[in-house]
Amino acid sequence: ISRQEIERLLIKPAFDSVVLNASARRRVFEMFGRDMTAQEVVNQIVADVRTVGDKAVFDYTAALDGAVINTDNIEVSEEEFSAAFASVEPELLAALRRAVANVRRYHQEQKPKSFLTYREHGAMLGQTCLPLDRVGIYVPGGKASYPSSVIMNAVPATVAGVKEIIMAVPPAKDGSVNPLVLIAAREAGVTRVFRMGGAQAIAALAFGTATIPKVDKITGPGNLFVTLAKKAVYGYCDIDMLAGPSEILIIADASANPRYIAADMLSQAEHDELAAAILITDSATLAAAVKIKLAKQLTDLPKREIASASLEKQGLILIASNLDDAVEYANIAAPEHLEILTAEPFLLLPQIRHAGAVFLGPWSPEPVGDYYAGPNHVLPTGGTARFYSVLNVETFMKRSSIIAYTREALQAASSDIIALASAEGLDAHARAVAVRREEE
Ligand code: NAD
Repeated sequence: ISRQEIERLLIKPAFDSVVLNASARRRVFEMFGRDMTAQEVVNQIVADVRTVGDKAVFDYTAALDGAVINTDNIEVSEEEFSAAFASVEPELLAALRRAVANVRRYHQEQKPKSFLTYREHGAMLGQTCLPLDRVGIYVPGGKASYPSSVIMNAVPATVAGVKEIIMAVPPAKDGSVNPLVLIAAREAGVTRVFRMGGAQAIAALAFGTATIPKVDKITGPGNLFVTLAKKAVYGYCDIDMLAGPSEILIIADASANPRYIAADMLSQAEHDELAAAILITDSATLAAAVKIKLAKQLTDLPKREIASASLEKQGLILIASNLDDAVEYANIAAPEHLEILTAEPFLLLPQIRHAGAVFLGPWSPEPVGDYYAGPNHVLPTGGTARFYSVLNVETFMKRSSIIAYTREALQAASSDIIALASAEGLDAHARAVAVRREEE
């Protein structure tokens, strides 16, 4: 199988021309009176929110989420937070708090360091790492609720030292937001929560409106409309990455348990019909056993319709000649989640070049990372792990350089600088150094 064939099978960029499904097309037609591509829809929504502001956000929320929101109720109130805390089971709250603590502890180790260093003649050079002032985190809310995504976005921002974390989450038809999402927001350190979703939320965060503060960066996963909107506002503010449907790739050998592999593949497939679950193994026997277990485990899975559609459209079992080839295919795929279920998983780790997160051995199924262990679950998808990193503390920080030369240091360097500036034809640059060599 050629590299191109592997790429065709395994890499699906998040923002490629995706055909809208029938219900999405119908909604678009109802809103705009004509057929439009997802890109055209997003461009229109972003432009409207940018020029009209709040009213466009309210109107699109009514049209797309069926919820009536206005200036008075778009922000989640203290009463709603209190009601959410009153409604939660104590065990669930305790579990969520332990997850927050694990995620915070892990991310604290990621903090980049400011430094000041010395050079010849007393010159000082340094770097400051500072948090962004205000960030926006997007928490998906269309098909399901994701308290875990709140934690994974907000905790690294708080560890970075971001003062204001503005969260956007689409409301249900009655305007409500999932209580556990609100609890996660409070526990993880979110400052304000606005009920708005999709491209209209991304545009409101990027440009600001009378009610919604403009942010410096937007992070977090979402559907195609969210991703295309992030692409459209990039440059007006920063974004974390362009993420698409979730995916898992499992490298396994004959020693692996097919029951575990099937369960892990389904844990991905239940997300979305577009989610991809892939097994690469050097054992034809294992491949056959996994197929049987998949069929068996699907029968009583509550989300079996989504999961079987995902397996049918995006699922794949590849039999490689050996584990080295399996690793090569995995590196081409650059998967979001990579599980290594071989007799000696650590032996393969040094060969892994591209993966959002790597899970080693039979006791590290992906949900351990999705919810709990500490590393982030906002990960690059669709082959973009070749160049994007997992969401981390530095996502919410920026670096500035510090230069403090002494008179002696400048004297020593002046001829070099003047020569380089003159060679570029930038005489004023050269003079800014030369003038300091002359006595008044
Ligand atoms: P979402 O919040 O991303 O999208 C809902 C919004 O989409 C709505 O508010 C609406 O404004 C907009 N929308 C829907 N139909 C539209 C249309 N026809 N035209 C214009 N806008 C429209 O929620 P979702 O749809 O459930 O998608 C969530 C995605 O996020 C899934 O793909 C899920 O797998 C992914 N996700 C990823 C992670 C991760 O860490 N990688 C975590 C959680 C969720």
